[in-house]
Amino acid sequence: MSLKLTAVVGAGTMGSGIAHVLALSGYRVQLCDINYTILDKAINAISKNIDRQIKKNLIDEKEKNEALKRISTIDKIDKIDSATEIIIEAVVENYDIKINIYKQLTNILKSDAIIATNTSSISITALAPKDRAANFIGMHFMNPVPVMKLVEVVRGYETSDETAKNVIDLAKNLGKIPVEVNDYPGFISNRVLIPMINEAIFALYEGVATAQNIDSIMKLGMNHPMGPLELADFIGLDVCLSIMEVLYEGYNDSKYRPCPLLKKMVAAGKLGRKSGVGFYKYE
Ligand code: NAD
Repeated sequence: MSLKLTAVVGAGTMGSGIAHVLALSGYRVQLCDINYTILDKAINAISKNIDRQIKKNLIDEKEKNEALKRISTIDKIDKIDSATEIIIEAVVENYDIKINIYKQLTNILKSDAIIATNTSSISITALAPKDRAANFIGMHFMNPVPVMKLVEVVRGYETSDETAKNVIDLAKNLGKIPVEVNDYPGFISNRVLIPMINEAIFALYEGVATAQNIDSIMKLGMNHPMGPLELADFIGLDVCLSIMEVLYEGYNDSKYRPCPLLKKMVAAGKLGRKSGVGFYKYE
């Protein structure tokens, strides 16, 4: 099956990025969120982000206009076209909200439609609708979607080979590099990345070095483009904490305990870039 008709549910940071790459790659996209204020903001963000690609001579104005024409916006799940072949869900990281969306989708979509979730930490197996588990999969894009090459393709317990193949082909058609993993807490990306960030926070908490020096060491010594604390601010400290909690609960292993300083900063609302203060201050 070559998927052509797509929909993206959730038009925030990730959903707008996913709609952007789908539309630029020739896919028709219905972009769904809870109201048109959010949707208009998403279309604006997509337009501005495509302009950056034009400035870099990666695409031209004509391609931009064609891509924008392929995106339509809708404010209700039940407006999704019943012929849609793949839905990529990118709503907030909340189990109940996601499950509720899949319930509505299964009433609309044909039985072989694929539902892919962009969740960064919730179990694909636990999210899978019981009667659609073979057609359900994790399609974990990285932020910012138009720039980052990786798509972590996460198979749930019952995901079929056909579903995985379709999603891998789609990722390739978007110019991405799909990499398959099985469904265990944190998958690979966050299981490796977030404990590294947590360890950097422990080092700061224990007074081993300043935030700047921890980041300098990892940038200069390990060739990381961003230091772990700078990256934590970019991701959001609340997101880092919730992923550490998923790992801690999922493996029951004390090596995944979140650093008390991380917990304290989240409780104080110091969430990184989005709140203006994290390990660094932002304008
Ligand atoms: P976001 O908060 O920017 O966007 C979420 C959007 O979902 C919002 O616009 C919200 O209005 C919408 N939404 C909520 N309930 C809805 C509903 N019932 N129907 C339709 N839309 C609804 O969040 P985000 O950062 O884009 O994250 C989305 C998903 O992607 C999460 O599962 C997150 O874990 C995952 N993810 C995020 C990142 C990242 O760096 N931000 C990276 C990879 C994966």
